[in-house]
Amino acid sequence: MTRPAGARPSPPAPGRTLRSLSELPVSVLETLSPKKAAALADWGVDSVLDLVTTYPRRHLDRTHRAELADLAVGDEAVVMAEVRRVNAPPSRNRRSRVVLEVSDESGGTLTIVFFNQSWRAKQLAKGTEALFFGKVTEYRGTPQMVMPAVDVIVGVDDESAAHRRRTLRVIPIYPASAKAGLTSWEIGTWVAEALDRAKTFADPLDDEWRERLDVVDRTTALWGIHLPDTMAEVAPARRRLVFDELFRLQLSLVLRRRSLERDARAVRHSVSPLDVTAVRGPADAGQGSTAETETSLVREFLLRLPFELTGAQRRALAVIFADLAGPLPMHRLLQGDVGSGKTVVAVASLLASVQGGHQGALMVPTEVLAEQHFSVVSGLLGSLDVADPGHLEGRRPVRVNLLTNRTTARQRAKLHAGLSAGEIDIVVGTHALLTDDVTFASLGVVVIDEQHRFGVEQRAALREKGRSGHDGEGADPDLLVMTATPIPRTAAMVVFGDLDMTTLDELPPGRTPITTLWARAPLDELAAWEKVRAEVAAGRRAYVVCPLVEGSDRVVARSAVDEFERLSSEVLPGLALGLLHGQMPAANKEATMAAFRRGEIQVLVATTVIEVGVDVPEATVMVVENADRFGIAQLHQLRGRVGRGSDQSWCYLLAEAPAGDAPARLEALEATTDGFELAEVDLELRGEGTILGVRQKGRSDLRLARLRRDRALLDEARRVAESITEHDPLLADHAVLQDEIRLFLDDDEAAFLFKS
Ligand code: ADP
Ligand code: MG
Repeated sequence: MTRPAGARPSPPAPGRTLRSLSELPVSVLETLSPKKAAALADWGVDSVLDLVTTYPRRHLDRTHRAELADLAVGDEAVVMAEVRRVNAPPSRNRRSRVVLEVSDESGGTLTIVFFNQSWRAKQLAKGTEALFFGKVTEYRGTPQMVMPAVDVIVGVDDESAAHRRRTLRVIPIYPASAKAGLTSWEIGTWVAEALDRAKTFADPLDDEWRERLDVVDRTTALWGIHLPDTMAEVAPARRRLVFDELFRLQLSLVLRRRSLERDARAVRHSVSPLDVTAVRGPADAGQGSTAETETSLVREFLLRLPFELTGAQRRALAVIFADLAGPLPMHRLLQGDVGSGKTVVAVASLLASVQGGHQGALMVPTEVLAEQHFSVVSGLLGSLDVADPGHLEGRRPVRVNLLTNRTTARQRAKLHAGLSAGEIDIVVGTHALLTDDVTFASLGVVVIDEQHRFGVEQRAALREKGRSGHDGEGADPDLLVMTATPIPRTAAMVVFGDLDMTTLDELPPGRTPITTLWARAPLDELAAWEKVRAEVAAGRRAYVVCPLVEGSDRVVARSAVDEFERLSSEVLPGLALGLLHGQMPAANKEATMAAFRRGEIQVLVATTVIEVGVDVPEATVMVVENADRFGIAQLHQLRGRVGRGSDQSWCYLLAEAPAGDAPARLEALEATTDGFELAEVDLELRGEGTILGVRQKGRSDLRLARLRRDRALLDEARRVAESITEHDPLLADHAVLQDEIRLFLDDDEAAFLFKS
């Protein structure tokens, strides 16, 4: 979607801007008492902008509402009625009862009964108007609703209500808060005053864009969602407001991307076409045509692998090498389910940097993982050489080092020197890499594994290390971030919209699927321990994962420390058990992991420290205790620790009588091992809030948008954002829009986006 050539920027639009609304405290409203203003503040609503973006949860069409006089027994109904009488008879047994009599203008009456909710008597005092949702039953000849869902619409002290409720045909139902003492009606009254006084709102989209997108203008949208005359106004209003939310988000991501590109100083990588040929796999690497001199580090590395790359790995590397060879620094996200083989892709990318005389850094979130990656990378590199004119032979082995908080001061000093002199080619480490005294001679590629554990700032900080090389003359390293927590495309567009995306959608061959069983009863649990004994007897290994390190009541959740004791003495006597948790000294952690790798420890009782990346192919059973306390993504990660070899593996999820949506989570894990499918279920169960929590910058602006439902608008928003910034990368000709973006971001981020 592009704007026709020659179109001139629109003149500043009349009407209130979002910023001006954000600068008005709600106390300017005449209908709002200071006491209620305080209640609103507690609820997170301070400005008029906060208020007008508090949207109705739904709308009640008075013209189609059920009237009490017409209700029949057996109906599922929504009725709006006024409380006429409240009766809370003293209870005979210990069950308290509140009985209401309600009526409406139709003249009908209905009895409403609540059990064990004595507070309803106060909430629904005489004179309150509320919505009741429920099934109409009959008791001794009188129609009644037992325990209906309730929305208080008009509280007894809502004075302005009487007049307005008669004039409104569609009643907006706001997310009223009984706790803050705010009714839907009150909120509606304040919003109405705000709209009355503001009248019109500045629109960042001109007529032409609105026509193309088929959206109403902002004034129509805000009035239409809060004070519609008919229900037909609500959907278009919502559509426009959702578009705005998604558009601001996509625009800030696209601007971020453009800003990075604007002042990019890319590293010149020497990735030869041969490297890409090599990744086509040994079978078609073209025998004979490659003279000794034409070889490259990447090529040698790939040819020496004990396995063939999967198609997905090859495709990913081809894209990455194209990025590396290109004129802009890479910003790419590599998504790949647990076990899809991201490490090899990472190492090949790092080597691409090394073969051009630059360095590579691999950052991971935990020490356990750093140590493991270090040994894997060292192992994979074997005796590969890199050209070095400073050496007598003109070549030397590729040097890889490890940097964590455990690295001693002496080792650290040596390492820092080696990195800044360019003698160390690849460094694997934790956050320790981010400290100021780490400088690189020439950092060419940065890989961040399990990126969800890091913030945007940390990504940026490591990238900055490239600039600091060569006395500040350095360039921006190419960045590859990897995640094994797949998220649906829509959510990815929101969370990682400033990155390009590649997916490893194929697992290496020969994996036997993991059988997952939710142990619902004590007998199921016995079967789990039986399986642990059997697998260990057959020479394999097991993980037992507990939600806590220590302490707590066993009834609430099992701790690793207690469970280690219990399993050693009662359940798995005679087996070699080990204990691993985050509070252990690092040296013990490493020793324990090493013993488990060697098989000296057969059963590792651990907390979620093993969640990410740990790779011990002989481990074939996992028992997760109190599995209902973990989320889907976390269980999927944990489970990925088994099934890494060619043997059949098992995962037992222990959870008796889980509450809430835990059964749905556990069933999903039983049903599939596909991370993307699980991610969809997760999004469905948790809503967007939690996933968007990953976004760390700016204020959360998604109030109406629902990613699954508004997929099409999200794509549209992305296209418009790309199109507008292509011609106007700093939004200089789109003042209202620029101001809005600034409003929703923090100052640093805004300064970054709009610096020219
Ligand atoms: P993840 O994507 O979860 O980080 P890893 O990189 O740890 O996965 O790889 C999981 C296991 O699969 C490792 O033992 C690795 O050596 C192996 N592997 C990676 N790629 C292949 C392949 N193409 N063929 C066979 N095994 C592979
Ligand atoms: Mg990994």
